Amino acid sequence: MKGVSLPCGKRCRSEDRRSSRSRATIASRLPVRSILRYGASPLTTPAEPIADFDQNWQGLADDMIATMYAAPGVGLAAPQIGVGVRLVVIDITVGEKDGELIVMANPEILESRGSQSEEEGCLSVPEYSGVTRRPGWVRVRGQRLDGSFYEMEGDGLLARAFAHEVDHLNGRLFLDRLGLLKRDLIVRKLRRRMRRGDW
Ligand SMILES: [Zn+2]
Repeated sequence: MKGVSLPCGKRCRSEDRRSSRSRATIASRLPVRSILRYGASPLTTPAEPIADFDQNWQGLADDMIATMYAAPGVGLAAPQIGVGVRLVVIDITVGEKDGELIVMANPEILESRGSQSEEEGCLSVPEYSGVTRRPGWVRVRGQRLDGSFYEMEGDGLLARAFAHEVDHLNGRLFLDRLGLLKRDLIVRKLRRRMRRGDW
């Protein structure tokens, strides 16, 4: 998920990166993977649950974290880098604050309350955004990379990020949450760009 409420868009990316030592360090140390864009089939395919926690998932998580921070974005789901498993990373501060990074396998929204309608974008649909309705508050259960379960709750941008990333794991994009007219407008533009090879 790309946080459109962030003060910094694409243009100030390099300046922004210099200002955050931790994010820059993480992003430069680990491989940044390319993010799949609208039209790539992993983005519309439901991802598989992670069942085998004996396998080392940390490498994939590290790549996802580096890719999210480098973008920059506030969340990333494994299918966005072409890996069809239910793993998400979220940091609504984009690395600006310690302790805000969330790495969650098999996230599940257990409960949601209220609603919020805000402008939303996605790293897989760069340059486009639209207003979507999301829960105002969510309670989520997921697993750490050692397989242990934990629960979290969040409101505002965090609730939106959870909803957005869980959608990715179910093969859905924020475009599916837009009004029909707005969605058609964006999809028509995207298809035209795909035909031109400009996507
Ligand atoms: Zn997204």
